[in-house]
Amino acid sequence: MKSRKLKTPMFPNLKFAFFLFAMTCFSVNSLVYAGPPTVEEYLKIAGDRAKVVAAGKLVIEGKRLTCGRRPTVTHPGFSDYGGAFPGFLILNLEKMKLLPKVVQWWIFAHECAHQFRGPSEEIADCFAVQRGRRQGWLKEAGMDQICRFISPARGDSLHPPGKVRCTKMRACFATKKVF
Ligand SMILES: [Zn+2]
Repeated sequence: MKSRKLKTPMFPNLKFAFFLFAMTCFSVNSLVYAGPPTVEEYLKIAGDRAKVVAAGKLVIEGKRLTCGRRPTVTHPGFSDYGGAFPGFLILNLEKMKLLPKVVQWWIFAHECAHQFRGPSEEIADCFAVQRGRRQGWLKEAGMDQICRFISPARGDSLHPPGKVRCTKMRACFATKKVF
């Protein structure tokens, strides 16, 4: 299908509002609040370029990536590499494809972590590298690639600076304690 420019100028604001709302709800209790969009609602906002990939069907760089029964919405217009609403993940594969494969897998695992461990970025990072270690796709060299990717990031209200995230992820990668 040919990609089309999004028609509504409200789109970026709407998406942002939903995202903030989701984060707010998420941080309180994702199960109680009905605020965040469903997949169908998200697709209506995101337009034709967003597609749903059913759980178990997503393959990135030759690896099948699963997050329980959660589907993934692939959305080339998404502002970041990935995101998570309660119940589904969002990936911008256009952005991700420029990254080393292990970093792409780590991004998926990080967004998946939000489904099961809540909004903490630190815990999502830790969960992701430990999942990689457990599944065998993440070794020391891969940790170096993730750190090279994340270290320049300054951080924001939700994310610590990249160098801090790297240090903490290395510690999680090394520890036996499971997150
Ligand atoms: Zn995150």
